[in-house]
Amino acid sequence: MSPRDAATKVSETLDRFPGFYYRQPKDSRHRESVLYCENISLNHLAKRFGTPLYVYSTATIKARLSAFDKAFGNFPHTICYSVKANSNLRILRLLAREGCGFDVVSVGELERVLRADGRSAKKIVFSGVGKSPAEMLAALKAGILLFNVESESELSALAKCAAKLQKEARVALRVNPDVDAKTHPYISTGLHKHKFGIPIANARQLYAQAARTKHLKVAGVSVHIGSQITDIDPFAEAVARVADLIEDLRADGHAISLVDVGGGVGIAYEQRETDFSDHFARYARAVTEPLREFKVHLLLEPGRTIVGPAGVLLTSVLYRKRNDGKQFLVVDAAMNDLMRPALYGAYHEIVPVGRKPENQQPEEVVDVVGPVCESGDFLGRDRNLPAVEEGDLLAVLDAGAYGMALASNYNTRPRPAEVLVSGKSAKLIRRRERISDLLSAEL
Ligand SMILES: *Cc1c(COP(=O)(O)O)cnc(C)c1O
Repeated sequence: MSPRDAATKVSETLDRFPGFYYRQPKDSRHRESVLYCENISLNHLAKRFGTPLYVYSTATIKARLSAFDKAFGNFPHTICYSVKANSNLRILRLLAREGCGFDVVSVGELERVLRADGRSAKKIVFSGVGKSPAEMLAALKAGILLFNVESESELSALAKCAAKLQKEARVALRVNPDVDAKTHPYISTGLHKHKFGIPIANARQLYAQAARTKHLKVAGVSVHIGSQITDIDPFAEAVARVADLIEDLRADGHAISLVDVGGGVGIAYEQRETDFSDHFARYARAVTEPLREFKVHLLLEPGRTIVGPAGVLLTSVLYRKRNDGKQFLVVDAAMNDLMRPALYGAYHEIVPVGRKPENQQPEEVVDVVGPVCESGDFLGRDRNLPAVEEGDLLAVLDAGAYGMALASNYNTRPRPAEVLVSGKSAKLIRRRERISDLLSAEL
């Protein structure tokens, strides 16, 4: 590949407009272009807040949310953003202001949503295979919209909790449609061998039981077949099976008004996503088509596709290191900060924040690794990167979803700070952890 081709390739993968793009700063002496988040250079953010640092773009979140919403047109629907993808309070507040409801999977996430926006309760759905009675009680007290129930035992536990509070719990059964989502096995959930949902064939009988139970109100059907699903067909197939079930359930006399089709819409980690609006439109067609005749209200639980491309993890190169002909870049971010590569072998595009004119910066093949004591601690392997020096900054792209949310304190590493950019302003939305924070819970 000629240096010119290489540079073109890098710039194309970087087109995550309006969030992240290269620009030549006015004071640039070396004709170097710099990666920006909206109107602020990532160099500037690294200086101000340090690294490793998560940086999110408000404009990208809004643009993706609005495109997702528009894709469903006038089909009655509510977007219940999946909190587990990125649960920072400021992100939740931003989404609430844009009209989102929320999908939570723990009482902790419920508390986050209520803290972010006290009026959101009526738009909260509670999912998850192991809700404890304490969690159910908290959700009933808050007055959430819907419980997605995943087993007969959970159904009776929920009824007991509702009886205790003299309330009625609105329920949908999460059915397992036995559809192959064709995604990574760890984030695939729609086959009978997975722990999730109720086999669709047993659903009718369990709905009958729910309808007979005091303090429970059958309100809908729910399905979620996995995450990072890039092929549209499995969605269409799952919803078609749900449509058949709704027909049966209505014949049995149940009032099914809500259909929760879960999340799972994938993003383009490896190549440039040229037109997400078009992608959303195809997804919307796939899930609405089988439901046209039913007069139902759709609940959508996107997580990754709203916030994934809206965030980067900014990291500094600590050391260049060569072992047996292999070039490593040891950076200050590690698997504890961004676990997806170690956990799923996930690919994240990695780019230098500063880019010299193409003929001054040859490419090299490198492994980008962190300081953690595990061979699985890598952010990228065998990457073609323009040669960078110690002290330079790299950006790990598409890290807005399941990045900070999955971060840990492994190796007693404090978790990174998070910054939310909007135009020319950058707000610290989570301060960097201190070692004293990590030690404070220990006796
Ligand atoms: C994780 C999850 C989602 C969100 O998945 P994404 O791939 O981030 O869109 C939605 N619903 C449920 C029940 C989930 O477990």
